[in-house]
Amino acid sequence: MNIKRNILLNPGPATTTDRVKMAQVVPDICPREKEFEELMNQMRKDLVTIVHGDQKKYTCVMFTGSGTLNMDVCLNSLLPKDKKILIVDNGAYSSRAVEICEYYGLAHIDLKFNFDERPDLCKIENTLKENPDIALVYTTHNETGTGIMNPIKEIGEIVHKYNGVFVVDTTSTYAMVPINMDRDNIDFCMASAQKGLMSMTGLSFVIGNREMIIKSKDYPKRSYYCNLYLQYEFFEKTGQMHFTPPVQTVYATAEAIKEYFQEGEIEKWNRHTRVFEAIHKGIEELGFKDVIKREWQTGLVVSIKYPDDPNWDFERVHDYCYERGFTIYPGKIASTDTFRLCSLGDIDVCDIEEFFKVFREALEKNNISIPVGYKK
Ligand SMILES: *Cc1c(COP(=O)(O)O)cnc(C)c1O
Repeated sequence: MNIKRNILLNPGPATTTDRVKMAQVVPDICPREKEFEELMNQMRKDLVTIVHGDQKKYTCVMFTGSGTLNMDVCLNSLLPKDKKILIVDNGAYSSRAVEICEYYGLAHIDLKFNFDERPDLCKIENTLKENPDIALVYTTHNETGTGIMNPIKEIGEIVHKYNGVFVVDTTSTYAMVPINMDRDNIDFCMASAQKGLMSMTGLSFVIGNREMIIKSKDYPKRSYYCNLYLQYEFFEKTGQMHFTPPVQTVYATAEAIKEYFQEGEIEKWNRHTRVFEAIHKGIEELGFKDVIKREWQTGLVVSIKYPDDPNWDFERVHDYCYERGFTIYPGKIASTDTFRLCSLGDIDVCDIEEFFKVFREALEKNNISIPVGYKK
């Protein structure tokens, strides 16, 4: 089968290999069969291994759904009665966590920082000192909306000093940036199959401290489908997801995990890094400006300011590139008009070089001056 290869420069789903695409095509199977159970059991272990978690101390709980489901699960399931959540919030994804707290009516503090600044550790510590009822601290590793990297290890250290549970949204770093549960002071992290793992959509998973999950059995129940303990207990008892798993995505993900271990943690991160550098080189040659200080960028998302050119039209540039197999993506910053180019997926430097040929053409065809201009 010959499947057209598209280069996705959006922040997930990512470009996948043919091997992963084809792994979805399997004989029909009822997921309650032993064969499928074994596949999921191994997957849960592998997903813990990827973040160097001890299998006794940490476990993986999988769900059917997109990545936001993990955020929902962690926030609604891990908050004890009469306690509070602290959200360290410097971007769109942590703001989404705040919205989840609002929807469930969970007591929370939204500790806001500018989207282009790293969270202030002193402010975090003071907030914990002043609010001894904070039981859960939540933040985002790589704010996918801007590409800023948050200092999770340092935040986690403070959280643990005040006996809090630390939840990190690693959806856009997992299986890309090397992560180590103990070293990085993470109690819970999360991702979904279609981002760093370069698999398909529909499978999401939380990796976390087993004892803390067991303890959460007695916490207030705020959701049925999205309760962490309920799903954990079902997995432990039966080896199954409580409700229907995304069967074909599970097969694709098993293949993607094989590819992950074959490529290797460091090699894969090196590849994403060289793609990221190629993106920077390309935008610099065209005169574009990015919004986050270079040394604070995670290395996965480049957030680029719209140029001040009367002919600039993101949609038209996007459509030109899209028709030629390259997908670029709008930004996620309320105060600044931006677009994003990301280094996720099964792509390498040569794909980025091809992209910039097409992108330059798109600018020329739309009479946008090169190098692009900015008023200030
Ligand atoms: C992609 C992503 C999510 C999940 O988004 P979905 O649209 O639900 O898949 C959550 N957090 C971060 C940081 C992400 O990048």
